[in-house]
Amino acid sequence: MSKGLPKRSEDYSLWYNELVKKADLAENSDVRGCMVIKPYGFAIWEKMQATLDGMFKDTGHSNAYFPLFIPKSYLSKEADHVEGFAKECAVVTHYRLKNDENGKGVVVDPDAKLEEELIVRPTSETIIWNSYKNWIQSYRDLPLLINQWANVVRWEMRTRLFLRTAEFLWQEGHTAHATKQEAIDETVQMMNVYADFAENFLALPVLKGVKSESERFAGAEDTYCIEALMQDGKALQAGTSHFLGQNFAKAFDVKFANAEGGAMEYVWGTSWGVSTRLMGALIMAHSDDQGLVLPPKLAPFQVVIVPIFKSDEQLAEISEVALKIKDDLKKLGISVKFDNRKTHKPGWKFAEYELKGTPVRIAIGPKDLENGTIEVARRDLLEKNVMPLDDTFAQGISDLLDNIQETIYKKALDYRTSHSFEVDTYEEFKKIIASEAGGFVYAHWDGTAETEERIKNETKATIRCIPIDQKQEEGKCVYSGQPSKGRVVFAKAY
Ligand code: AMP
Repeated sequence: MSKGLPKRSEDYSLWYNELVKKADLAENSDVRGCMVIKPYGFAIWEKMQATLDGMFKDTGHSNAYFPLFIPKSYLSKEADHVEGFAKECAVVTHYRLKNDENGKGVVVDPDAKLEEELIVRPTSETIIWNSYKNWIQSYRDLPLLINQWANVVRWEMRTRLFLRTAEFLWQEGHTAHATKQEAIDETVQMMNVYADFAENFLALPVLKGVKSESERFAGAEDTYCIEALMQDGKALQAGTSHFLGQNFAKAFDVKFANAEGGAMEYVWGTSWGVSTRLMGALIMAHSDDQGLVLPPKLAPFQVVIVPIFKSDEQLAEISEVALKIKDDLKKLGISVKFDNRKTHKPGWKFAEYELKGTPVRIAIGPKDLENGTIEVARRDLLEKNVMPLDDTFAQGISDLLDNIQETIYKKALDYRTSHSFEVDTYEEFKKIIASEAGGFVYAHWDGTAETEERIKNETKATIRCIPIDQKQEEGKCVYSGQPSKGRVVFAKAY
């Protein structure tokens, strides 16, 4: 039972939208481009947040909070930054409404115009560096390692649930350093933290790399990123980490007295972020035609127990065993839901948890009670097994969860491997990019924005990154034939 989910092979995009809604993750709201994240979806996001937050704290960062509104003049202090974000800003111009002439509705009160317009933050570099000016005086104040969990608004024209919304939830790290090298090391470190999170929690293999100039964050000197491949062969930028040079320090006059004699120097900066887009990555990378497939480490509950009963007496007997199982699993840190509702039939529940991606389902009926067994189903492979309910059972479920986490990762990695291609001619390049299967194409590029732009216009493929974990050999640009320093990764992208 798939509750009428379209097949991925028929309409991937429709499959995704329907899955997000049917699995109760999120829905569109009446506000264009803004979504409602429902409790089940939010529970997954909370797990992502908690894990990432721990990783940020382990690397020395502290959380803080800055205002939602940014004075327009701040945004324009860094020229590239404002140019990059100007096209998608929501602007607050007034602070009051009043009754209209008929007294029936309300209108904006023209007398309540703000002296300076406020921008709803699209990202917080400007307001944060404006504070850093007061926080940083000497080398002793550095490094400053701050993270903020917040919502931001970018007035995106083409939106899609989780992947690209006008308002989204994210974290943004903003750090300040005494030296260039320290800031670059921080930028790389945070890209590695994101990659670690993607691979070990999302079960999603990612490429680490640097963006080409045209894909760089507005105001950065370099943008590092993690790029993932979705099941339709399209790439998704899953996280970014920016080396800001001294750009924001100069724009906001943030200087420190250095340790060598107290001369005043501009501070070096970084910023880095991941968003609710990671929810989209999780859904798109692993789910199937039956519904969501969740890696155990991020599932709101890892095991569901479904009792199979005809009478209240049977339910009472099964409940006793089920609650003992729940308790034993809880001791191993496994989260369990016992769904003893009488309002829904077991078959309905099975379909529901399949759709919602619960990693392990345990069914217990009267026969199992007699035999001392349980039926255990794993969501990722849709396989069922009968297990004896003995002393080894809880550890067995724990091992099974580990195995599911690994299997999901391995499957995504195999998919990426079989959809990664090295090409040396533009003919081959176009063929793969235009193919249904898509994928990552490793090709030589002459390093110019013109070639990049032409390839994009002709094929819709963009440079996802210049990979950094790979031995580079020189070659000839697949498009222009000019010398190339190494292969870069092209793909169609979300
Ligand atoms: P940026 O500040 O542009 O580097 O973006 C930081 C992170 O937010 C990146 O990982 C992006 O993939 C993600 N992101 C950017 N725009 C959106 C959007 N409209 N909706 C959801 N996530 C986004």
